[in-house]
Amino acid sequence: MKQDKTPPTLIMIFGATGDLAKRKLFPSLYQLYLKGNLSDQFAVLGVGRREWSQEQFREHVRSALQNSAHSNDQIELFIEHCVYQSHDVTDSRSYIQLKELANELDENFTLEGNRIFYLAMAPEFFGTITDHLKQDGLTDTNGFCRLVIEKPFGHDLPSAGALNEQIRKSFSEEQIYRIDHYLGKEMVQNIEVIRFANALFEPLWNSRFISNIQITSSETLGVEERGRYYETSGALRDMVQNHMLQMVALLAMEPPINLSTDEIRSEKVRVLRSMRPVEGKEVDDYFVRGQYGPGIVNGKEVKGYREGANVDAASNTETFVAGKVMIDNFRWAGVPFFIRTGKSMAVKSTKIVVQFKDIPMNLYYNKEHSLDPNLLVIHIQPDEGITLHLNAKKTSEGVNTQPVKLSYSASSVDGINTPEAYEKLLFDCIMGDATNFTHWDEVRRSWSFVDKISDHWESTKEESFPNYESGGMGPDKSHKLLADEGFEWWSVGELDK
Ligand code: NAP
Repeated sequence: MKQDKTPPTLIMIFGATGDLAKRKLFPSLYQLYLKGNLSDQFAVLGVGRREWSQEQFREHVRSALQNSAHSNDQIELFIEHCVYQSHDVTDSRSYIQLKELANELDENFTLEGNRIFYLAMAPEFFGTITDHLKQDGLTDTNGFCRLVIEKPFGHDLPSAGALNEQIRKSFSEEQIYRIDHYLGKEMVQNIEVIRFANALFEPLWNSRFISNIQITSSETLGVEERGRYYETSGALRDMVQNHMLQMVALLAMEPPINLSTDEIRSEKVRVLRSMRPVEGKEVDDYFVRGQYGPGIVNGKEVKGYREGANVDAASNTETFVAGKVMIDNFRWAGVPFFIRTGKSMAVKSTKIVVQFKDIPMNLYYNKEHSLDPNLLVIHIQPDEGITLHLNAKKTSEGVNTQPVKLSYSASSVDGINTPEAYEKLLFDCIMGDATNFTHWDEVRRSWSFVDKISDHWESTKEESFPNYESGGMGPDKSHKLLADEGFEWWSVGELDK
């Protein structure tokens, strides 16, 4: 991370008593503070409905930090910057008090009128909050005002459009920071560097040399307590519309003319525009949906999705998606980008596998020694790094070959854990760098691609659900999707070894 210090800022967190604030936001801000990245001129104004005293709130923050931080040294100093206001966001009157408190903090901590409004709350409140922030003058300052919005940004294109229109009444596009926390991950940010800073890869990064690209994001956890939310979402909306398509865009984009936010975003948008739309029955040729049944994960018996709390016993919701995304442009014509994501699977892993085409003639072929394709594996999480799979001579065995790997592990080289995605994203937002946040054009394009798939799935019941065992790697059809093209999924578990 850059070593700059942030400008003076008031960080107003709506939903400060919630899970996201506790697990991610307070710990990330504290890390920035510990590292000296956060200017001393900062204040955190937490907003929630609970009628907590300042001391109760500070105790809440303290325990969140004690559970997460590597060092407790400066917790008390950090907490002096944290203030709470009990406020129902639907109650128009309480914004006046909020404004007074914000102004007071502004003066006490010399914040120069700079404000970040972080909406860590359910999306149905976003519009009400932004309307009030503007109408009641909370955005009326001499400094910068930025709005951070958590996912999900809408449920489909019409709802995302309506939400966007509403928040744009109060904030301009440049002031809106839509979070996709995958964009804060070290190795996702590294995709551009690997591609554009290495003479080795960029000349090969096209349909002449790459046969297919596979992106897997699998989780061992099931839906757990989030059944109510998940029933209205499913894996397509929860993972594909945002995280998976963002990774496709970063892998497929043209080199930007420079690294400015606008240039990078515009190249990503061009990829999203080039994705071949699939709709109606055609969806079945490109996408596969799955739902987990009971099974064994990490040696423990687990229930199927339909047995979970707040889940319909005959639910049609997918907990797994595999798809073939075709990018119809000059660089990628004919190269499938296979994506797959699911819950209650065999391994927790997010990985990208770039598979290069076979060399024109295999001089080393014999029945015992086939030649593996070259692979570039980008390990996103939990491991972070890259591995290049090559073929080399087998020691003292004539000219027989063996696969070898060149590996770079981000965490072992740096000697410390890489910063959490939220830490980087919060830092970027305070610094005014929106590159790793999604522009409305990206959100709009992704929804329009995904809506056609969900329309088809919602209008046709998947009779085979549940169609994969917990602890597996998804339904058989997902393997067939690749087999039909002459490929197979690289086993993400094996690639770690
Ligand atoms: P949560 O634990 O349910 O917290 C919701 C927060 O909203 C609480 O602080 C709650 O305060 C507050 N709230 C609810 N109604 C309110 C009202 N009328 N006025 C004022 N405050 C109100 O939810 P969460 O898990 O933190 O998630 C927050 C948002 O982040 C959601 O949009 C979610 O989709 C998104 N998100 C969460 C995660 C995660 O890891 N948790 C990850 C990605 C995205 P009281 O409880 O005091 O009423």
